[in-house]
Amino acid sequence: MTGCSVPELPELQAHAERLSRHVSGRVLQEFIPLNFTVLKTVDPPVAAATGRTLTTVSRRGKYLLVQFGEITFVVHLMQGGRLIPDPRPSTSKRGVRARWRFDDGSEMVLTEPGTERRAGVWCAYTDRLDRTAPLTSLGPDALELTEQDLAAAFVMYPMRLHNFLRDQHMVAGLGRRLANEVCHSARLSPFANTAKLDTEAVARVHAAIVHCCTVSLEHERLNNEMVNSSDRFSAVHARTGEACPVCADTIRSVEYSDYTVNYCPTCQTGGRILADNTTSKFLK
Ligand SMILES: [Zn+2]
Repeated sequence: MTGCSVPELPELQAHAERLSRHVSGRVLQEFIPLNFTVLKTVDPPVAAATGRTLTTVSRRGKYLLVQFGEITFVVHLMQGGRLIPDPRPSTSKRGVRARWRFDDGSEMVLTEPGTERRAGVWCAYTDRLDRTAPLTSLGPDALELTEQDLAAAFVMYPMRLHNFLRDQHMVAGLGRRLANEVCHSARLSPFANTAKLDTEAVARVHAAIVHCCTVSLEHERLNNEMVNSSDRFSAVHARTGEACPVCADTIRSVEYSDYTVNYCPTCQTGGRILADNTTSKFLK
């Protein structure tokens, strides 16, 4: 496991709130993309934001929304990206993907480490955000999803609970860590079939989504900047081999190429050890 993963709803929400306090009211002099791949749109032109005042920074799913009145920049940080106001002179120039230069001489920069060029910026009309890629295909935000919505989606899209929770089309804002945490908090197997969950189980999943997002958000709001994933709170995520904080059973894992499912057998699977169908046939 690397210590790096895409930030999820709590980290991004807290970061949007910090940025909003820090940079609102500044007037955009120029938006400068620093490579060909970072800016994903051509209409409206980014110059449409020039001279406008930054009104707020908010969040939708795992996207940050940097709003200059009628124009909004949609920013996706991917794994290691950061949106940093007033970068220190030491901030590596090579890692900077885009700059928002303000008329008071200050800046906000989008940085991304190494050679990755996956972070993206979309320039959109604020009143058409829901009809703008990449936001069009997002499901309801995790903190706005109702229990009825969740029940309906579970029936309509039968799949493993962990996969459902990570799928941004189903519910927006959760990722690898929160999918693990929500399944544990709801006392359900990450491999449970969503279409087979009864009303009481659906209610537990809904409550767990709200609980896990809220606890993490309160934790993130205490930080002055977006912390590394290793510093984020978890009961089971990235704790393979450790004791479950609820029952002290050993936390188990199922490994995939780009993520790890962590769970507690006693709390979640009636003591059963999970093996993934796609890999277990290779085990002797
Ligand atoms: Zn447990």
